[in-house]
Amino acid sequence: MKVLVINSGSSSIKYQLIDTKTETVIVNGLVERIGEEKGILTNKTFPDTDAQTVTKMEKTIADHNAGMRLAIDLIVDPEKGVIKDKSEIDAVGHRVVHGGEGFSEPILITSEVISAIEDTVPLAPLHNPGNLDGIRVSMELFPGVPQVVVFDTAFHQTLPPHAYMYALPYELYEKYRVRRYGFHGTSHKFVASECARVMDRNFEEFNCITIHLGNGCSMAAVENGKSVDTSFGLTPLEGLVMGTRSGDVDPAVCAFLHRNKGMSVEEIDTMLNKESGLKGLCGMNDMRDIHAGIANGNERAKLALDVQTYRTRKYIGSYMAVLGRVDAIVFTAGIGENDDVVRRKSVKGLECFGVKIDEVVNAQRVKEPLRVSTDDSSVQIWVIPTNEELAIARATKSILSEK
Ligand code: AMP
Repeated sequence: MKVLVINSGSSSIKYQLIDTKTETVIVNGLVERIGEEKGILTNKTFPDTDAQTVTKMEKTIADHNAGMRLAIDLIVDPEKGVIKDKSEIDAVGHRVVHGGEGFSEPILITSEVISAIEDTVPLAPLHNPGNLDGIRVSMELFPGVPQVVVFDTAFHQTLPPHAYMYALPYELYEKYRVRRYGFHGTSHKFVASECARVMDRNFEEFNCITIHLGNGCSMAAVENGKSVDTSFGLTPLEGLVMGTRSGDVDPAVCAFLHRNKGMSVEEIDTMLNKESGLKGLCGMNDMRDIHAGIANGNERAKLALDVQTYRTRKYIGSYMAVLGRVDAIVFTAGIGENDDVVRRKSVKGLECFGVKIDEVVNAQRVKEPLRVSTDDSSVQIWVIPTNEELAIARATKSILSEK
């Protein structure tokens, strides 16, 4: 079965065509800067092989429809395309950031599902409109092809009320559904179940702490294969220190800045999402630049790394308290998979809880799951590459086989 996976943002569309039988990527691509003067399309066929071919285009891409058509014209071509006809695409799987409280599983798209996603736009105004654009364009381009949506919030719908409720006036939950939802759910579920698999454990009886450290960062406490707590909240702003997002701050900071600096709600929102985190602390939001800065004696870069890893360590400690028994701690995503210094600093001082990292193994970089804890560590520490696109393709296939 060939599944086209679409992750459509406000001004970009990421896509992958995946053969679910072999679980290989036939095409992956990115359409960027939609709506700007100079749009960019990068399309790679057979990206993980020696036969890879890369096509890059720069031109105005007016909207999502134009962007998706451009990509499809490259993929589907009777002569030059990796597939000869659109009918070879069996299904489309879409990533949607916010599913509100209505979706705890992937679902086949119907008009009811679309209007339910529209209803959650106030909860995710930066993300869901772009996701919906991708769905609408894809339904237009592939009429009659089953389309499935996989929500970033779904895995965390098992959080108990004591973990998802904020201590705010209850009517804010009743009227506006203000609560913790959590995101990155597809990634947390994927790496948690992969970890259970490589440790030869039954996922339904597996407890772990998953740490997704990329541009966005979040953690989850997984008990018996189910998410029971997570660091993202109503939006993907709470919790860990991220590239440009603050993570946890005293909410009183917002009123303080309004009163003392005259900042508007929009300005504060933009500052917390785009000008804070690692970037706010040291002016750099890429961890590789931060390490280079530290090597050159940049004190602020060192501070940014310290603040980020300290926050992660605090969350690990609190999730150990949540779970009681922890079988594994799992690092994933751009930083989690590649940055041994961040991993080492994040578990530093947890030896008394049975968390011991093997610094030699931890320094290795591989593309496969790797155990980086010592043999006598009672909690295993793993690096597991995430693969949200594959998870979406698998979910799409499984929904269709249930039909
Ligand atoms: P992601 O959102 O998972 O694609 O992660 C992107 C982030 O991962 C980048 O902003 C970098 O901070 C970080 N990253 C990527 N490669 C490396 C690396 N080799 N070492 C450290 N950090 C990295």
